Amino acid sequence: MHKDLEKILLTREEIAARVRELGAQITADYEGRSILLVCILKGAVTFFSDLAREIKVPAEFDFMVCSSYGDATDSSGFVKIRKDLDSDAANKDVLIVEDIIDTGTTLSRLKPILEDRGAKSVKIATILNKPSRRKANVTVDYNGFEIPDAFVVGYGLDYAGRYRNIPYIGILKESVYKARIL
Ligand code: 5GP
Ligand code: MG
Ligand code: MG
Repeated sequence: MHKDLEKILLTREEIAARVRELGAQITADYEGRSILLVCILKGAVTFFSDLAREIKVPAEFDFMVCSSYGDATDSSGFVKIRKDLDSDAANKDVLIVEDIIDTGTTLSRLKPILEDRGAKSVKIATILNKPSRRKANVTVDYNGFEIPDAFVVGYGLDYAGRYRNIPYIGILKESVYKARIL
């Protein structure tokens, strides 16, 4: 285990098994259609590349970078698109791929934006979900794991830009935050 982690929450094997299940479910739900997979950079990149390979219907890839403004825990905060899609979402079945849904602010703002562009459907897949932290209403269509209210890193998720390449998901030691504040 990485020395900065308190404990491993989800192993590589557990994540891979769940991603396979989600891919199978998505493949069944979108049978006979094609899909526009939208990766929310950077955190979702690992989940996105694993999930995409488990989806057996035709899929296009696109990428967005978003920032939430205002108080991070305030659902009235708005979302700024810092890098938009290259493709036109109109008449597409869009699947947004996220790393974690926490307060729900980001996705509660992003989903209507893509719907307003005339997408045929907009659904959400996330590898992690913290329902106890929810402030804004979001329907999660494909949910990897529900986790407790702890700060996690790995499998794409960072703390201050670090730990994204850890191949499993773990809880960061409190001493790591404290070291940064001092
Ligand atoms: P929200 O759902 O509150 O709008 O924001 C979700 C975003 O907050 C995620 O995409 C992620 O960047 C960040 N986030 C929330 N909880 C965690 C966590 O436990 N670990 C990490 N690394 N990022 C988190
Ligand atoms: Mg994210
Ligand atoms: Mg981050």
